[in-house]
Order: sequence, then C-alpha cells, then structure tokens
Amino acid sequence: MWDSGAYTPPIGNSAGIALSSSVNEAWEILANGGRIDIDHGLDLYQHASINELGMLAHYVKRQKHGDNIHFNLNLHVNTTNICVLACRFCAFRKGSRHKDAYALSTHEYLERVRPISDTIDEVHSVGGLHPEWTVEHYEEIYRAMKEEFPHISVKSLTAVEVKHISQRSGLSIRRTLERLRDAGLDALPGGGAEILVDSVRDRICRGKESSQEYLTIHRTAHEIGIPTNCTMLFGTVETLQDRITHLDRLRSLQDDTSGFQCFVPYPFLPDKTRLPEAKIPKGMEVIRTIAISRIMLDNIPHVKAYRMNIGDKLASIGILSGADDIDGTVQREEIMHSAGSSTPLNTGMQGLIRMIESTGQKALQRNTVYTKFKPHTLKNAPEPRTLPVVG
Ligand code: SF4
Repeated sequence: MWDSGAYTPPIGNSAGIALSSSVNEAWEILANGGRIDIDHGLDLYQHASINELGMLAHYVKRQKHGDNIHFNLNLHVNTTNICVLACRFCAFRKGSRHKDAYALSTHEYLERVRPISDTIDEVHSVGGLHPEWTVEHYEEIYRAMKEEFPHISVKSLTAVEVKHISQRSGLSIRRTLERLRDAGLDALPGGGAEILVDSVRDRICRGKESSQEYLTIHRTAHEIGIPTNCTMLFGTVETLQDRITHLDRLRSLQDDTSGFQCFVPYPFLPDKTRLPEAKIPKGMEVIRTIAISRIMLDNIPHVKAYRMNIGDKLASIGILSGADDIDGTVQREEIMHSAGSSTPLNTGMQGLIRMIESTGQKALQRNTVYTKFKPHTLKNAPEPRTLPVVG
C-alpha cells in the first residue's frame, strides 16, 4: 500500500563536532533556511574536507527526507543509438550505417517492456537524434505504451531530443511538448545538461542545445505541467567554478518554476570516447560533488546517487553524503555501459533495499513523480524474483 512517506525533523550539528569556519557558517545559514551563494559554495567545494562536506550534505538531506532513501522499479529502453550529432564524450551513438546501429519500432519497444510490465511502474527512455523520426513516431510509442500499460509512467527524452524532434517536425518547442504530453509523456529525465556553460559545451558537445536552450526547454515543460529531472555530467574539461555556475543556473530556474524534481550528478566515464584531455573524477570527487549539489540546490527536492553510472559501492556512500535516491531496478542500460559502467543490471528490488539498509536508512519505493510512496524492509520484501533479462 502506498502512503505519503515519513518525515524526520532536522538533526543539526548536535554532536558539537569542530568544523572549519566556512562549514560552520554554511551550517548556520542552512539551518535557518538560507541559501549558500556562489562564492561560498565554491569555497566549500574547494576547501572543506570530504567528511565536513558529506556531513553537512547529509544534514540537509535529513532535513528534507529524514532517514528515507528512495528507489523505483523501472526499466530503461533506449529507442535508438543512431544520432546525427557526435558529441565527443558520447560512447553510445552510431552512424546509421554502422553494423551495431539500431532503431526500435513501436512493436520492438513494446516487446522490451512486455516481459516485465507487471514488475515496474516506469519506463525511462532516451536515445540518439534519429535523422528521420518526427513527433509522430514518439506519439505512436507513447500512445501504445499507455494503451497496453496504463500503470507505467513514461519518463522520456533529453532536451536535445526535444529540440531535434521539434525541428524535424516544424513545430515550436511548446507545441512539440504539448503533443508528446497529450500522447502519454509523463516526465523528462533531464539528460543532456552536461555543463551549462557554453564554452565547455563548445568543447565537448558542439551542435547540441545551448545552455539557454536546455533551460528554456525545461522551463517550457514545467509551464505545461511536465515535471523534469536535471543532470550534470562532470569531469570532462570544466572547472569547479563551471560546476557551481551550473548548479546556480538550475537553482535560478527552479526558483521560477518549481518543476525540477530530482538532480542527477554523474561523472564522465571515459572509455571509448574522444576526450583524451578529460579529468576523470575519482571516487572522492564524486562524493564531494553529490554533497555540494545537495548543499547548493536548496529548492530541488531530490538528489540522486545514480548507481548505473557510479556503481553500487559509491552510491552507498552517496546516500550518506546528501543523496536521497538511487534510481531503480533499470534492468537494461546502454548509455553508461557503452562508456564503461560495470554496474550489475540484475540487482532487483531486494538488492536495492539491502543497499539502503546497509547504510542504516529506510527504503522507500516511489513513483516517477514522487507523489506515491511505499516503505519496504528486507525482512518484509517479496521473495527474490529473478526478472527475465530482456533482449
Ligand atoms: S550525447 Fe546524445 S546527442 Fe550527443 S552524440 Fe550521444 S546520443 Fe547524440
């Protein structure tokens, strides 16, 4: 049975732990409902110890969510790896004549979902920029999904996919999103933000939507009632200042719209891409970035430790350092795994609950838009059920 989830009151720095003055000041500001400005955020990111940063971020997380850590039961379906762009960091895209290129028909898409449709409530679906697909193709998929699986939310399309579809279809961004919404699109996953600084985008993904276009597409989605997530790909060529600027831009949009539900920071995985100059983030930096995100993004409700990218071990530390969500069962994932992720795809619900409980916190299943919640414990979780591996 779903319920509205538990809330635990703030804990504060009740242990009286000695903190650096910058962290102490941040603690005071956050405990009083204030905002960490850009300069203070950069100072914390650069100079606070990982223990201080993680502890402060975990405090903020507990203020918002108590001991709860969210997960969902979902499936990733990548629609096509054919893409008219060739972002330098991307290991997923293929040219249309490549032997491994694919583009799912609506029938093939449904076939991916059908075997496990009774065990999930969300399909997360993104892909490349197909040279021929217009809005009609996506409308057909979403309508078919809603007709056959009305209980499954469709979280789909990166901002650049929305831009590409609108251009291919000769429609405005708003009209494109309205048509997709009316066909069954429930939410946008937030991918494609990379770093919202155009000088960085020029180096890693020239031709993709600009920073302003990303923000405008998300603003438009929020205005017509489509909630979205937002992301940050870090560890390519950007500076720490660029990352803080990125967080600030998302925070400013959220002040206007309140349409972001979750922020998902993930590090660049370098394998098979064309960015030899990338500064690959180490585990400590991943945790520091999750922590500073939670500290800066005071108005975005959720921060995700995206296990498909950072792996289950770092995700476990992430949910003690500011994150309150670990995404879901996923089952099949191609984008991160093309780039070198080795996160298992068969963890299942019990595995997620075990991971959460191992950190001393409580597992709370959520739906796509965080309006329904169901608590779980390993003791009471359903018997392990091996979900069929798709494809
Ligand atoms: S990141 Fe997206 S837009 Fe860029 S090449 Fe890869 S699939 Fe295409």
